[in-house]
Amino acid sequence: MSRPVRVAVVGSGPSGMYSADALVNQTEIPVEVDVIDRLPVPFGLVRYGVAPDHLSIRSVRDTLNKTLDKPGVRFLGNVTVGRDVSLAELHDCYDAIIFSYGASRDRRLGIAGEDLAGSVAATDLVEWYCGHPDADRGTFEALLPTTTSAVVVGVGNVAVDVTRVLAKTVGELDHTDMPQYVFDTLAQSQITDIHVLGRRGPAQAAFTTKELRELGELAEADIIVSPADLELDDASRAAADADRAVLRNVEVMREWSTREPTGKPRRIHLHFFARPHELHGHGRVETVVVERTALTPEGSAAGTGEFFDLAGNLVVRSVGYRGTAIDGVPFDSGRNVIPHADGRIQIDGATVPGEYVAGWIKRGPTGIIGTNKKDAAATVVSLLADAASGALPEPTSPGGVDALLADRGVVVVSTDGWRAIDQAERDLGATRGRDRTTIHDRDALIAASGS
Ligand code: NAP
Repeated sequence: MSRPVRVAVVGSGPSGMYSADALVNQTEIPVEVDVIDRLPVPFGLVRYGVAPDHLSIRSVRDTLNKTLDKPGVRFLGNVTVGRDVSLAELHDCYDAIIFSYGASRDRRLGIAGEDLAGSVAATDLVEWYCGHPDADRGTFEALLPTTTSAVVVGVGNVAVDVTRVLAKTVGELDHTDMPQYVFDTLAQSQITDIHVLGRRGPAQAAFTTKELRELGELAEADIIVSPADLELDDASRAAADADRAVLRNVEVMREWSTREPTGKPRRIHLHFFARPHELHGHGRVETVVVERTALTPEGSAAGTGEFFDLAGNLVVRSVGYRGTAIDGVPFDSGRNVIPHADGRIQIDGATVPGEYVAGWIKRGPTGIIGTNKKDAAATVVSLLADAASGALPEPTSPGGVDALLADRGVVVVSTDGWRAIDQAERDLGATRGRDRTTIHDRDALIAASGS
């Protein structure tokens, strides 16, 4: 091929940025990459999923930012595939497309009362406190100042993030880039109790020890866990013996179970072998009916028929993320992922020429941010092999995307536009003595980009 291979990367979260990086970091095949995102800003879950008070994890964006400076990489923000440009048009303009748009939606509990006001998805709460342009501000700014007792369902790292943010004082969050409306709302918090429900035992919890430990180190919240909930059956003891990460979790919680509450104004209660059965309330959730569970020989949770009530006027389900389909792209609706073989998208066992997948929409919502680097690199190996062997379909209008978007009047936020937003967020933060403050409003982001 006499021109560079042109690749569209759809989604600018970690897996998209790592894909772009791997494409331009090799020298055998010249490649030009457009990283397309429906939002005016890049970095997806690094910006809108990683907890704002986890500064070291959020600093991954400095690394991802460097990729946008590399020759051959462009950012095309505020462009929605399927609305501003169709899949067929992407094929017209690019030799290959990598879908790396993640898994941003919530999973449901499927229990009675789940749709009561006050029952929310962790994904939505996280988007709200991270300043996502689509966040439902009205709901959270009405709920949070009137919440006294919250119930968080699930014991993964997102549940830990949400619990910590709800339990922290504004002073403990003041150094973060949360939008001002988040501080103003959290300053009105009346929360005294946060109950966290694990449907299996402490040895089966999905959180990691570093994240877990932080719950025991909060300025104004005691952590409470019953020793009875920490008793391990033989299989769980074997799991703890075999896996140091499990053992460390259990040890941290055992130490907590010996602590006397110190009278702090907030309390975090960890419950295991407890799953929500239904939610009750008049107009808004008031009570969570919880069923005690026991582990089956296979290690899953089975109900025991024993129930108890927890007061909760905010219920946050934090039971995992879910990927969604893009029109025309094969989708496995059972697993909520795009089917693939070595990153090449498959339909009925056959490869779709020129279509690839990386990240959470490839393998499901698991792993740490770094997991996506290896994952993206593997997909890029397949793409480059196909480029070398001539297996990529020939686009009819290589490079034609700019004219197409301009004709449609799409306001595209470029890399320079993102740099301008970045500076505007630093300037906004400086007005309150912070490193940066997230601009949450889509129009304000586009205005700041100068696009
Ligand atoms: P997760 O790790 O998959 O945890 C989901 C939790 O929900 C599990 O405890 C699961 O219990 C529970 N659950 C699922 N369905 C349930 C139901 N119907 N009823 C009650 N409980 C239910 O998901 P996540 O917390 O959303 O995290 C997603 C990924 O992002 C993970 O890989 C996580 O480590 C990562 N992450 C990392 C960080 C960090 O490193 N600081 C921060 C946030 C997220 P079972 O195990 O019984 O199914």
